Amino acid sequence: MNTMLAGRLHVPGATFRVEEVPIPEPGPGEVLIEVKAAGVCLSDVHLIDGSLKPFVPVETVTLGHEVAGVIHTLGPGLLGDWAPGMRVALQAGQSCGRCANCAMRRAPCLSPHTRGVDYDGGWAAYALAREDTLAPIPDHLPFDQAAIIPDAVSTPYAAIVDTGAVRPAQAVGVWGAGGLGIHGIRLARLAGAAPVIAVDPLAGARDRALTFGADLALDPADPDFTAAVRRATGGRGLDAAFDFAGAPAVREQAATVLHRGGIMVLAGLTPHPLTVTDGTRFSWNRNEIRGHYGSSPEHVGQLIRLAAMGRLDLGPSITDHLPLADAAEAVRRLEQKAGDPIRLILVP
Ligand SMILES: [Zn+2]
Ligand SMILES: [Zn+2]
Repeated sequence: MNTMLAGRLHVPGATFRVEEVPIPEPGPGEVLIEVKAAGVCLSDVHLIDGSLKPFVPVETVTLGHEVAGVIHTLGPGLLGDWAPGMRVALQAGQSCGRCANCAMRRAPCLSPHTRGVDYDGGWAAYALAREDTLAPIPDHLPFDQAAIIPDAVSTPYAAIVDTGAVRPAQAVGVWGAGGLGIHGIRLARLAGAAPVIAVDPLAGARDRALTFGADLALDPADPDFTAAVRRATGGRGLDAAFDFAGAPAVREQAATVLHRGGIMVLAGLTPHPLTVTDGTRFSWNRNEIRGHYGSSPEHVGQLIRLAAMGRLDLGPSITDHLPLADAAEAVRRLEQKAGDPIRLILVP
């Protein structure tokens, strides 16, 4: 039997191993992808530590929802004009095919499945992909940069351009300058936001935020924080505040520096309650709070175009490459923030 290496999560007991598994065969409407690059995300860390569970009950699953590679084998019954050798990134999830909307062939799917969580992902030499999850990439876009577009870049992109609807010259604050937030800073700048204010308690993260396009980087614990935001925005405050940290204290602070009509976007996840310290001021200002989750296939397509046309160089987001066999080491480095990685890439 033909086998390959795959980074597998054994869900009961939450254990992770790189092991030999059979190379899968594409079914109807599917292709087999030869994986060239796969990103390591904080949600992979959370799957392995057991704090995040697959939505679909599965015993074992190959991790990896940020994947790029080339089409290796075509399955039967494909609708598209696909050919072996074509370079593609893979959407980080797919519609369930069973919910009320899917049954009526309407978008959006009400219970989308995530690649590398609910079904086998790309921490493997080969991965299956349904053809509606293939996003072609041009020859000059490197596989590692293409791989991280679904999720690491597309989630903050959708938060900035859709949920937050950032317009040129708006004052934007980004709390949390980690893997998602650092892209939020770049994309807010790309959308024309001015100023872009990064907020992070770590000095190293603030320095990096400045190199990634923030006009100003503030420590949230600075007693001068509110005054600094006012100074940077001509006394107005923020038009849009983004929480990429998923922390109650961030939300409480962000709500206090919103301009009239300003909105707060909750892109980081936390199960804890949300506190608005001064409700009267919030109402007087007609402020809004909006939840945000993930992105849609259109966002991935737009980002591939922006990266391909040189508007967005994702090279600086790639911290390091590791062989697939060292997946556990990559997870450890991300979990312990060793070397403060933005994105680590597994290469089969
Ligand atoms: Zn992710
Ligand atoms: Zn569905």
